[in-house]
Amino acid sequence: MKRRPRKISVGKSVYRLRTRRIDGFFGETDWDSRTISVARGLAPPVEAKTIIHEIVHVLLDEAGLMGSGSVARVSERVCQGLESPLASLLVDNKALIAWLQEALKK
Ligand SMILES: [Zn+2]
Repeated sequence: MKRRPRKISVGKSVYRLRTRRIDGFFGETDWDSRTISVARGLAPPVEAKTIIHEIVHVLLDEAGLMGSGSVARVSERVCQGLESPLASLLVDNKALIAWLQEALKK
């Protein structure tokens, strides 16, 4: 298995990606330091879906859709709901992903 990247670029922002001990949940994003943390010791598929989950949080934030209170709760449900479909999309459509990367090159 390839090494997990240490950085994730989202638009003009770069987020650090790291593992650390986290109790009670699998991942979190620190907005001030732009750091995505995933719990140490997760099985690779769980770690991957956790990273996808946190990336969706970042995308919602970048789009100004994170909000607070009830909006934040909806955002959390969106992130949870998209973890598995996005994982399947990435795994099942390698040719599409490669084509999109080529088509979107700057
Ligand atoms: Zn979340």
